[in-house]
Amino acid sequence: MDFALGPSEKAIQEAAREFARRELVSGAMRRDEEASFPWPELRRLWDAGYLGFTIPERWGGAGADLLGHTLALVEIAKADAALAVLMEVHNTLHAAAVLRWGGEDLKDEVLPRLARDRLGAFALTEPQAGSDAAAIETRAVQEGDLWRLTGQKAFITGAGEADYYVVFAQTDPARGHRGITAFEVPKDAPGLSFGPPQAKMGIRAAHTGAMFLDGVPVPDAWRLGAPGEGFRVALALLDQGRVGIAAQALGIAEAALEKAVEYAGRRVQFGRPIGHFQGIRWRLADLATEVEAARWLVYRAAWLLGQPGRHTADVSKAKLFASQVAVKAALEAIQIHGGYGYMREYGVERLLRDAKITEIYEGTSEIHRLVVADELLGRLAAGPGAK
Ligand SMILES: Cc1cc2nc3c(=O)[nH]c(=O)nc-3n(C[C@H](O)[C@H](O)[C@H](O)COP(=O)(O)OP(=O)(O)OC[C@H]3O[C@@H](n4cnc5c(N)ncnc54)[C@H](O)[C@@H]3O)c2cc1C
Repeated sequence: MDFALGPSEKAIQEAAREFARRELVSGAMRRDEEASFPWPELRRLWDAGYLGFTIPERWGGAGADLLGHTLALVEIAKADAALAVLMEVHNTLHAAAVLRWGGEDLKDEVLPRLARDRLGAFALTEPQAGSDAAAIETRAVQEGDLWRLTGQKAFITGAGEADYYVVFAQTDPARGHRGITAFEVPKDAPGLSFGPPQAKMGIRAAHTGAMFLDGVPVPDAWRLGAPGEGFRVALALLDQGRVGIAAQALGIAEAALEKAVEYAGRRVQFGRPIGHFQGIRWRLADLATEVEAARWLVYRAAWLLGQPGRHTADVSKAKLFASQVAVKAALEAIQIHGGYGYMREYGVERLLRDAKITEIYEGTSEIHRLVVADELLGRLAAGPGAK
């Protein structure tokens, strides 16, 4: 058993830390306030290789594995969780879909663009199908070499901004979740339109919105996987994606802990830094312990996905725990900052607003408990659609 990161992993971590401090930290508060889509920062992420990080070098990517991606993502999230979710969706939910399930021509066409300057998104959720993703109603009907997609998607990260969308649609409704198929859809496809960005609590720069499909034509060559294989595609992608969200949560938790420790060392009350008081010391000690535990669950889940077999419950444990720790760490950081923590300028209230979403998207905490319980007890009650 080896708990140490190897030299290449340490190098990835240090480079991402340095990049995030230099390029991303100072503007995070402004991006949150303005809620403007962060194209300038995304371009820097492309230039530094983080968008397309897991795309093999032959298509212009950095060829990193999931653990390397996780280490980099934690550092990006520590600086700006909104950028982290865009990176996570682009790499683990979009590029990974094209890489694993796309045909060779599609890969040659799209992967170099994703590695260079085109953003990818993931469109599974619908207004009536959230946790129960198997209940999607978007239809894809085959017409010769084309499919025509009609329906509506909800809560899509990067909707209207991203250049390509992995879209899940029913091709054989009688077969339920076995009738779902995945497609690669470019933003400029006829019949595709988007709602405006929705006002939201946190990760405000990473726009979220609806997507409308009205007979959108998609060539059969842009199908991802076999007809009816889409639900399996979604679940496999979400295993990786959820490690990404767990990494995002870990980054937020680490940022909160660092800010709390730093403030406890310099804020003087009763003639001493507040870090001298046991009430503060114990809080910090508990938090540091939980952040450490989250870190190892997240690293382990990322490592496991590179090993044979299915590791869905291990991923769920990591995401469930890391997201809880992120919310708790942000709350504790606010408390340790006292009244200043409640003010925007100290940057800890943003951590709380950003942390909360990690308990909701890519499977709510309740759904992850179902996955873990299923592994412990067997599938007694949960349906196949649990996302
Ligand atoms: C900011 C943001 C970005 C997102 N980005 C994307 C994206 O890019 N692509 C995409 O496809 N989706 C995206 N989503 C959708 C997200 O994955 C869903 O919101 C999430 O899966 C929950 O679905 P829901 O919101 O419909 O809640 P529901 O499924 O309606 O759940 C409501 C409540 O009921 C609970 N619940 C549901 N079923 C059970 C059960 N069986 N047992 C116990 N409790 C249960 C849930 O845990 C939750 O507390 C995004 C959402 C948000 C908010």
